[in-house]
Amino acid sequence: MSCIFCQIAAGKIPAKIVLDEPEVLAFRDLHPVAPTHVLVIPKRHIASLAELEPADAGLVGRLFVAARRIAEMEGVSNQGFRTVINAGPDAGQTVFHVHLHLLAGRQMNWPPG
Ligand code: AMP
Repeated sequence: MSCIFCQIAAGKIPAKIVLDEPEVLAFRDLHPVAPTHVLVIPKRHIASLAELEPADAGLVGRLFVAARRIAEMEGVSNQGFRTVINAGPDAGQTVFHVHLHLLAGRQMNWPPG
C-alpha cells in the first residue's frame, strides 16, 4: 500500500484523528497553514476529483457534512471556514488520494493563490 492517506486510514501510520466514521476519516494536517487545518478523506482510495464517478456522489457529500461537523467541534462555524479540494498538479495537489482541506481561524484571502 503506497498511498500515505490509505496508510493513515488503515491505522498503519499515525495521525491526529479528529473524526472517524465508517467511510470518512479526518485528521490534522502535518503542516498547517491556518490555526485550524484538518484534512477530510474518504477511507476508500480515490486518487483525485478528476476520477470521481456518479456513484461517489454520496461519499463526497459525506466529506462536506463531516467538514461542517468539525467546524462546529472546532468552534469556527460562526466566524467562518474554507473548504478546498485541490485536483491535479496545476491546483497544487501533492497527495493523490482525495482530501478536503478545512481551513479556519484566520482571515482568508480571495482570490486564492
Ligand atoms: P494537497 O497539496 O492538496 O495534495 O494537500 C496535501 C496535504 O497533505 C498537505 O497540506 C500536507 O501538509 C498534508 N500531509 C502530507 N502528509 C501528511 C501526513 N502524513 N499527515 C498529515 N498531513 C499530511
